[in-house]
Amino acid sequence: YFVSFEGGDGGGKTTQARLLGDWLGTALGREVVVTREPGGTALGATLRQLILHGEDMDPRTEALLYAADRAHHVASLVRPALERGAVVITDRYLDSSVAYQSGGRELSEQEVEDLSLWAVRGLLPDVTILLDVDLATSGARMSGDLDRLERVDDAFRQRTRDAYHRRAAADPARWVVVDAAGTVEEVHAQVRAAVAERLHL
Ligand code: C5P
Ligand code: MG
Repeated sequence: YFVSFEGGDGGGKTTQARLLGDWLGTALGREVVVTREPGGTALGATLRQLILHGEDMDPRTEALLYAADRAHHVASLVRPALERGAVVITDRYLDSSVAYQSGGRELSEQEVEDLSLWAVRGLLPDVTILLDVDLATSGARMSGDLDRLERVDDAFRQRTRDAYHRRAAADPARWVVVDAAGTVEEVHAQVRAAVAERLHL
């Protein structure tokens, strides 16, 4: 199985990916790989550093760097893991590019989707969980040093959130929308229930 977590910053994707991984590993008795984008590989970590902490760049440059990270992530880590029967859970996948580079940075949605699908040779998750938080909650959860891409205005965040909702509504067979405003345990319980239902566990 291939599961992705999506949503704006401050929704708890990293925490929920890890908790779901622990639970699925026990429930299925199978190897679980929890990974992330950008930065799930060594090359990806270098790209992540360039994207988040490098100089300002054109949205197309940014989109291509995310696509490069993702192509390498899928070719070297995700696909081999799926082929040996592991469950792969990723903290962000190609829907992040559509939401941020198209919704946020206003590139064409179709072009970003096509680029992303080309990068991964069409590999889509079995389940994608949208951890949905309102802007006030996500803003309050994000503290400390913000990277270049976290310093975006509310209009950008709103466009990103809207793009996620449009994608989730357009493909309900793949997407599950979870209200991420609750406690870590509450959200985890909802994620677990949704994944168990989708994967017939
Ligand atoms: O989720 P994570 O903290 O790893 O994301 C790193 C940063 O990159 C965040 O600020 C996120 O908003 C941004 N991002 C982006 N476009 C993507 C993926 C992430 O702008 N496709
Ligand atoms: Mg972050």
